[in-house]
Order: sequence, then structure tokens, then C-alpha cells
Amino acid sequence: MKKILILFIFLAQNLFSLAQSNESLVISQPFYVPTIETIEHPIGDSKIKVKIYQYGEPNHILCINLHANETTSVNAATAVLANTGGTIVRVMNNEQRVIPFKINGVRYRFDPNRIFSDVGIQQTLRENGRISAAAIKAVDQFAKSLLAYFPDSISCIVALHNNTNEAYSVKSYLPGSRREKDAKAVASFASQDVDDIAFTTDSLLYKKMADCGYNSIWQDNINVKQDGSLSVYCGNNNIRYINIETQHGSVSQYATMFESLLAILFEDMKKE
Ligand SMILES: [Zn+2]
Repeated sequence: MKKILILFIFLAQNLFSLAQSNESLVISQPFYVPTIETIEHPIGDSKIKVKIYQYGEPNHILCINLHANETTSVNAATAVLANTGGTIVRVMNNEQRVIPFKINGVRYRFDPNRIFSDVGIQQTLRENGRISAAAIKAVDQFAKSLLAYFPDSISCIVALHNNTNEAYSVKSYLPGSRREKDAKAVASFASQDVDDIAFTTDSLLYKKMADCGYNSIWQDNINVKQDGSLSVYCGNNNIRYINIETQHGSVSQYATMFESLLAILFEDMKKE
């Protein structure tokens, strides 16, 4: 109880300092210094590095950054987690989204957020160049090793993403738009940048983030397009998942949304 109280004081302090600065994330005296472990996953003749940042003891909240170019999300999340505690799994790929690898000298490429189903793996290999049975198998093994970072004890997977101005936004899910069928419910607020969204498999998280005034999307876990993304995998497997996504560079907004989410998740855990 005492620990939770301390945690909320830190959250409140951070929100206060954010409100004051509004420019950059100012957090004085982080509570936790992370331990960082680097693991190399072989894929064909290549290796993909994954870094695990652990802030304090594992607390059932696990963050994952799949797209290595989306550094705003990681910078904001690490600043917050230094005060709250938590874990980040980060795919390292020279700040590039698409991951290259070689098998017997032949080069393949894939999007790491399209590899959590057979259909997704085949599609992303094809879209990014070559495909072969060996490449499909190698990517599938990598996907399985990423999923192994999520034990059943995890109460929520938090995906850390960024996007570019209006390329993908809450508008993509509104009636008549490209991804309308992927959403069961959408809350869109004029006060918010359309690019800043919370996208979740969970009706309660959807409601609570919308209640906070953030653009929120509840994935239709039955009818969503099976594209091999982590949200679809989690929807299919009843895993609680939320993606916090802002435009590149919006560190303050990201940290504010991420802190609101953590407050909701910690509140939930207190009830359990
Ligand atoms: Zn992304």
C-alpha cells in the first residue's frame, strides 16, 4: 500500500512538472535506474538485438517497442518508467522500421509488427521484397522469441509507437474511412491532435482513456483485418493490449498519455 502511495505521489509530481514546462519532459531525480540486458536473436545468417530495460521489480506491465525508428515513444516512456517502475522490450534495428536479414547470402526484409501470424509474415516479406520457406520459418521463430518475453502473469502489454502527421490517425477509424471495420468503438476529440491515439483490445481501457479525453479506439477483436500485427494477435488470444501512439516528436503529449494509462493500470491492480 505504501509503495502504491509513493508511486502516485511521483505520478502527480510528474504531471505537475509537465504542466509547468509543457515544452520538454522535466523529471527530477528518477526513482529507478534501469538494468539493461541485450539479447541477440539469430535470424538466418543475421542477428537482431533486443534490449530489455527493467525499472525496479517487474510489476506486470510490459511495454514493447517494435519499430526502432519510433524513438519519441521510447524517450517519453523511459522517463516515466524511471519513476513508476516497469519493463520495456525494445527491438534494436538502427532506428529503422523494416528489419533486413540474410539467409545464404539472400536478403529479406520484414515489418516487425506484421509477424504474429503466418499470413502476416508472408505478406510483409512479399511487400518488402523476397519470400522463401526458409525466410518464413526464420521470421516465425523471431516472432515466437518476442512473444516469449510476455509471460502469462503480464496484466497488460503496452505498445510504444509513433506516426507521421495524419498518415494514420483516429480519422482512419471513423465511419467511411479505411479502417472503419477494424474498430468496435471510436472516441475522437477536437481538442486532441488526430495523430495522438490510444488503440486497445480492451473495452475498459478504451472507456477509461476516452474518459481522460484522449482519442481512443477499441479494436473489433473478431472482425479486425488479420494482418499479423501484435494488436490482432492479442485480440485473438484474449491478451489485454494497448498501443499509445503520438506523432513523432511529441514527447510531452506522449508522456502525459502514458502516465494517464499507467495510473489507470495501477488503479486496476490495486483492486485485484
Ligand atoms: Zn509503429
